[in-house]
Amino acid sequence: MYDLIIIGGGPAGLTAAVYAIRKRLNCLLISPDLGGKANARLHIEGVDTFNVVNGADLVRRFRNEVEYLDFTRLLEKVVGLKKAENRFIVTTANGKELEGRAVILATGADAVRLGVPGADRYFLHGVAYSTVSYAPLYIDKKVALVGAGALALRGAAELAEIVAELHLIAPTHGDLDTILGRKLRAAKHVTVWENWAPAAVQGDTVAHQLVIKSPEGQEQALDVDVIFVELGLKPHTELVAGWAELDSEGRVLINRACETSVPGLFAAGDVTNEPAEQVVIAIGDGAKAALSAYEYLLK
Ligand SMILES: Cc1cc2nc3c(=O)[nH]c(=O)nc-3n(C[C@H](O)[C@H](O)[C@H](O)COP(=O)(O)OP(=O)(O)OC[C@H]3O[C@@H](n4cnc5c(N)ncnc54)[C@H](O)[C@@H]3O)c2cc1C
Repeated sequence: MYDLIIIGGGPAGLTAAVYAIRKRLNCLLISPDLGGKANARLHIEGVDTFNVVNGADLVRRFRNEVEYLDFTRLLEKVVGLKKAENRFIVTTANGKELEGRAVILATGADAVRLGVPGADRYFLHGVAYSTVSYAPLYIDKKVALVGAGALALRGAAELAEIVAELHLIAPTHGDLDTILGRKLRAAKHVTVWENWAPAAVQGDTVAHQLVIKSPEGQEQALDVDVIFVELGLKPHTELVAGWAELDSEGRVLINRACETSVPGLFAAGDVTNEPAEQVVIAIGDGAKAALSAYEYLLK
């Protein structure tokens, strides 16, 4: 029986593992990969990253430590998690059954992908999925953003502060009646394409054009420097659905100590109700979750 099983090998899970190892817990990290979404980075032409504090570099250092201590990790997907009396039972895709006295869920969340021709080809080459991370790099540029929910309007509002031209493609009315929606509609350099749908992404080595379509079938090609996609996030909570409390967006509800509604079950990073999806937030969560799990085990 392990003291602690950590599910997920992204920034949150890797940091939790390093903290747990330092506390000399008998711990196991289970994940099909190490690094999670920190392995993905938007390629932007002409941007100098020299001397920039880089989330991926931080994560690499935690990953190196977990890779070095290879007995602490199992490269598999977890397909089952249940709570028994004073322990958790974890089942992996290869049928292994493992037991832990505590568990940290750090399975992350995936962005809903744009499903039009060209969107996959230009993924991270002009089609970007994290406005909160990359918006500040597009000063005075022409930008399109697809989405109409709270996350999309927040990203659009940030972009509107700095870009030369913003096209907000809102396939539905969504949150356009909010303060941010009204502010965006009022801005002269912002065009809100309400009820228009993305139809295709075009470019050369990077995407340069988003083709959109009106409900009547009229097409318009927008020439832009980047296309942000903010159609929502899908948190990976399947393992705890039905027995751990989730918020209205389906994310695991945690308190300041990364405790969930289930004693002994902790959660960290993008899978939780943390207010922003960022590497350093996931890293901080991973550390907090490991320390909270340690305290739980002490008691
Ligand atoms: C394209 C892109 C670019 C980004 N750029 C930046 C940036 O520049 N700066 C920044 O701060 N943030 C950026 N982000 C956001 C950042 O990557 C995330 O906030 C961060 O990775 C979250 O870490 P996490 O550990 O919570 O989840 P994730 O990184 O999503 O990791 C989740 C882990 O859990 C594993 N997992 C999932 N399900 C299971 C299962 N059933 N069993 C076992 N393992 C499982 C996954 O394989 C993965 O290893 C970006 C995000 C994207 C999508």
